[in-house]
Amino acid sequence: MLTATELLYEGKAKKVYATTDPRVVIVDFKDDATAFNGEKKGQIAGKGEVNAAITTRLMTYLEAHGIPTHFREQLDARRLVVSHLQMVPLEVVVRNRVAGSLEKRLGLAEGTVLDEPVIELYYKNDALGDPLLNDDHIRVLQAASPAVVTQLKQQARDINRLLQNFFEERGLILVDFKLEFGIQEHALVLGDEISPDTCRLWDKETLQKMDKDRFRRDLGGVEDAYQEVLKRVMS
Ligand code: UDP
Repeated sequence: MLTATELLYEGKAKKVYATTDPRVVIVDFKDDATAFNGEKKGQIAGKGEVNAAITTRLMTYLEAHGIPTHFREQLDARRLVVSHLQMVPLEVVVRNRVAGSLEKRLGLAEGTVLDEPVIELYYKNDALGDPLLNDDHIRVLQAASPAVVTQLKQQARDINRLLQNFFEERGLILVDFKLEFGIQEHALVLGDEISPDTCRLWDKETLQKMDKDRFRRDLGGVEDAYQEVLKRVMS
């Protein structure tokens, strides 16, 4: 029987525990929500369970389509067993439409369709506020080798195509999302989560926001939106 031992890390939305097996860790999804670099804090009732279930479904789908992920099994409603990865300290953002920080950076209207996906790499560093990096910055920081950066971007494009199709079939537009990767036995593996906390998802018909922007912008109906995404993802 696999059991959690010590708490390795507590983030804004998840706790990670070591286990009796050094090759795996247990991820516990919390209801806590934060935005704007932790300045806004709150709770989204049921979010832990929703995000654990959605991550399980999406990682399983990606694995079935040839993407290596850290997912191993769902332990219970809020906890997943995942491979213990050496994390790359980068957040990989993929964008199909303009929203959020890209809207501010480029001054383009929210919702503008991008002909080709835009990929951005951010440095995972709370003290610096997770800055956007170019390839030279990554080299200076030695955050990842040029080969890993190339591979990260290719994986992100492949995952984007798969997820866009998956959500499209369920009446959702994948506006943008964030991925994190790790290394396991010299191979790049998708880690972290994929959920309405880390994706912008809009209803295809109404363009209604069905993700964490409802919390960020106090739009109301946050719990209902997360439950609706869960329902569609499971269908
Ligand atoms: N994102 C995330 N974690 C972060 C930053 C961004 O999951 O620390 C996701 C976010 O939910 C959105 C995408 O990455 O789906 C792009 O986010 P953006 O750069 O627009 O930042 P935001 O304005 O949302 O903070």
